[in-house]
Amino acid sequence: MAWREGFIEYLSFDDVAIIPGRSPVEPSMVKLESVFSRRVRLGIPVASSPMDTVTGWRLASALARVGAIGVIHRNMSAEEQVEHVRRVKEADPSLEGEAIFTRPGDSLGSIVEKMKSRGVSVALIVEGSSVSGFTLLRGSRLEYWASKARGLASLIDVHDPQPLLDDEGRLVVAAAIGPFDVERAKRLEKAGADVLVLDVAHAHNENVVAAVSRLAREVGVDLVVGNVGTRDAVLEYASRVENVAGFRVGIGSGSICSTSEVTGAYVPTLTAVFEARSALEELGLQGRVPIIADGGIRGPGDAAKALIAGASAVMSGRLFAGCEEAESTRIVVGGRVYKQYRGMASRGAIEKRFASDRYSKPSKHIVEGVEGLVPYTGSVYETLAELVAGLKAALGYAGAKTIRDAWKAKLAKITPSAAREAKPHDLVL
Ligand code: IMP
Repeated sequence: MAWREGFIEYLSFDDVAIIPGRSPVEPSMVKLESVFSRRVRLGIPVASSPMDTVTGWRLASALARVGAIGVIHRNMSAEEQVEHVRRVKEADPSLEGEAIFTRPGDSLGSIVEKMKSRGVSVALIVEGSSVSGFTLLRGSRLEYWASKARGLASLIDVHDPQPLLDDEGRLVVAAAIGPFDVERAKRLEKAGADVLVLDVAHAHNENVVAAVSRLAREVGVDLVVGNVGTRDAVLEYASRVENVAGFRVGIGSGSICSTSEVTGAYVPTLTAVFEARSALEELGLQGRVPIIADGGIRGPGDAAKALIAGASAVMSGRLFAGCEEAESTRIVVGGRVYKQYRGMASRGAIEKRFASDRYSKPSKHIVEGVEGLVPYTGSVYETLAELVAGLKAALGYAGAKTIRDAWKAKLAKITPSAAREAKPHDLVL
């Protein structure tokens, strides 16, 4: 029977465990440097999803300041998206861009002016070189400021965060594009986007492949294609599109995704990484063309599994949606603070697409994403500090000193009872 030929088994993050390996280093010595695309390097192997409740210039700047990367979403006009890229490029690349240092005696008005002009929200009052206190402008933001200070301190504690800079010393930024919008792609490139990321649910569609092969000839910056989930898709892109600079892989695993429910089509992110790796190994390109594992990453354990499977970086919307720097608005429900998070194929996101671009007709009318709330998690630096510490610990167990070592580490397939035993059990919590 034809359908049985090459029948493949899907594995997701919960189906595998990292096999502890002989470890040459302490977790604190694990190096997380990696690449996002052929030419774009990373200090932390993490990217934020191009989603309209996640990545705009604020999150992208904050991430690039410590070595990760943000992909500016495209659910807005080309002008607006270019403006986001421009703002990242104009942002202060140092960590001082996150806070204004001033002196006791400076007027509150002058501090507020500086803050407005730099687009930052924290004022630290310094005496000599030590911080003597916070100036609170709005009480409700106290939690965020405290978490930003805490997050940066713990990130610096577990990692030496270095900004991602382009040749001109500006922060590095990625921008999402559609396959048919060559004009937008060119404008983003002109505005300084360092890498363009194809943002299509099913990139292995014949029209999309043809359009991307044309688009690739029109732009000079790195082009990451996706999303793809199969070996065949990677092989076809590699043969038909010049210089693919990376693959964004995973279909239907996103936390806000209902593609699999609605259409039955799905490739778990972990399996998509295996598939892409196998294709790139066959082409002799493994390690040269990065794989970005996108969707379903719940924390450092999943991220480490994706890296071991062969990814160079992980992409997440869920982990960043609750952060202050994300594009979504805060909502208080029953005294608890949340942020709104929605799929780009959710009803709300599709409606916005109509509003922002009257001349484009969405190719699909079905809804493949959901809208919901995620707990507010304060500054992105707290999220990153936890992610980095967890990744270093995980790679330490795997016996990997670097991401390249991680590719040689091993994963085991686990049984349902092994999975049950791996969680806290047999006690009253
Ligand atoms: P998450 O981090 O698990 O929430 O997954 C985020 C990823 O889900 C994104 O990077 C996209 O690849 C994908 N995605 C975003 N919006 C949708 C949607 O509406 N439907 C299906 N997948 C989506």
